[in-house]
Amino acid sequence: PTFAELGLDPAIVRAITDTGYTTPTPIQAAAIPAVMGGRDLKACAQTGTGKTAAFSLPLLQRLLPHANASTSPAKHPVRALILTPTRELAIQVYDNLKEYGKYLPYRIACVYGGTDIKPQIAELKLGVEFLVATPGRFLDLVEQKAVNLQSVQALVLDEADRMLDMGFIPDIQRILNLLPKTRQGLLFSATFSTEIQRLADTMLQNPEYIEV
Ligand code: AMP
Repeated sequence: PTFAELGLDPAIVRAITDTGYTTPTPIQAAAIPAVMGGRDLKACAQTGTGKTAAFSLPLLQRLLPHANASTSPAKHPVRALILTPTRELAIQVYDNLKEYGKYLPYRIACVYGGTDIKPQIAELKLGVEFLVATPGRFLDLVEQKAVNLQSVQALVLDEADRMLDMGFIPDIQRILNLLPKTRQGLLFSATFSTEIQRLADTMLQNPEYIEV
């Protein structure tokens, strides 16, 4: 299929075309319809498969009713939370979201540790629909009441196996407990050990399973 045939909005298709992509990768062809339809997703995929667009594009599409140009922070609560194990990956995902969403009036932010928290608090106060974060800094921001989670509709866990290796699973469990019970869950991992599988079982409901 083409990106347009997958049902993506013309504003998203135009941004993808600008980027130079012509055809969805296998994980995109499988994930985009499932996620657009509201399904949870469990994906076994390595870096380089196009996994970032596989979750970014359908979430940009699904949250379109909430894309708005209002200047009121209250009109921009966090709708999608994307957790990554590292700052580098967070920035990569953020850059991709900005690119794919460039024709849509979403606010997108990226927060990670090892840097001053104050500008991040200030940015979150303005409201963001898409928040890309590393787990520890995200919890710090929650503790500082810089982020309201009651409107979160989707959670993405990217590179869950690396999160496990880095000792982030307790943080992830805490974050899961802070989010609304009814929300979409997307988990990506290069491997599925018993621990990752257990995490998937607590986080996802009847997920579509994709392996590439
Ligand atoms: P990822 O697996 O998300 O890290 O993506 C790997 C690389 O593939 C990135 O540089 C993307 O920009 C690129 N990419 C993602 N989707 C496509 C596509 N459909 N066609 C061509 N390149 C793509």
